[in-house]
Amino acid sequence: KRPLLEVFDLKKHFPIRAGFLSGVTGYVYAVDGVSFSIDRGETLSLVGESGCGKSTVGRTVLRLIEPTAGQVVLDGQRIDDLPARSLRPLRRRMQVVFQDPFSSLNPRLKVKEILAEPITNFGLAASAKEVEDRVAELLDKVRLPRDAMNRFPHEFSGGQRQRIGIARALAPGADLIICDEAVSALDVSVKAQIVNLLSDLQDELGLSLLFISHDLAIVEHITHRVAVMYLGKIVEVAEKRTLFSAPKHPYTEALLSAVPLPDPTAKRERIILTGDVPSPIRPPSGCRFHTRCPHAFDRCRVEEPPLKAIAPGHLAACHLHDGGAPRAATAAA
Ligand code: SF4
Ligand code: MG
Repeated sequence: KRPLLEVFDLKKHFPIRAGFLSGVTGYVYAVDGVSFSIDRGETLSLVGESGCGKSTVGRTVLRLIEPTAGQVVLDGQRIDDLPARSLRPLRRRMQVVFQDPFSSLNPRLKVKEILAEPITNFGLAASAKEVEDRVAELLDKVRLPRDAMNRFPHEFSGGQRQRIGIARALAPGADLIICDEAVSALDVSVKAQIVNLLSDLQDELGLSLLFISHDLAIVEHITHRVAVMYLGKIVEVAEKRTLFSAPKHPYTEALLSAVPLPDPTAKRERIILTGDVPSPIRPPSGCRFHTRCPHAFDRCRVEEPPLKAIAPGHLAACHLHDGGAPRAATAAA
């Protein structure tokens, strides 16, 4: 069966201009050839350090920003090149929940009006009564009391506001929800509640989720698969269990080594990466991770490793898994 969302070789290069009237002097290669798919009812997490391009992937898929190249296919239909008018009805099906619900919820509107907006915009209710019924239903779905509809966003806690944000994403009947650091700003216990709510809603409604996060401990709770990004590219994709127990890309290994283990007495060696994340304006040659990789060898500086299958459903972009150099030899390199 065809995935709900398919992304092929997506690129977003932001032009750099020295001034308003000057020509383009370079590009920020924010997303530089990213491919993945999400099945119906599946959660794929996109993880990586800030600035790796994961949010830009989300915004480009949603066409909040226009892609430079590549294809985005929603339920079998290409949407990356659709004119705005034809795109409009499809927007109903893909919605976003941002990190800060406060800045994305209009403070002057009551919750009822916030949730009614997408319902009326997409013509999903025939009367004011129907709109109100639908708003009440949405509040039930996100486990908020119905009288919440008569209050304003500032009257709610951060977690409750995020529930309103989720209700608004559900309002037009979306089947793909992109969560961009949706729980990052919340307290630990509230994070867990919102993540549980998202998985319950997923089961109930068959939602597909693209869960963008830098927080691997949270990702482990919610996701089915994980895609790891570094400097505009995906470097590894695997089922959650495989990725967390047997990561194959050195960057994934380093990210995971920083995640606290559930058993506090268990030990995992922390891999400290040296050097800063290079600029996406001038990404390193060859493997983009070679300037920080503890295993880099000569080939890594000149040849870019392709993202390829190393086991069924497990992809990695690293020469070590592509007939490169054995690890024993890398110390001498
Ligand atoms: Fe490290 Fe080379 Fe693999 Fe890149 S290709 S991750 S530099 S070993
Ligand atoms: Mg971001």
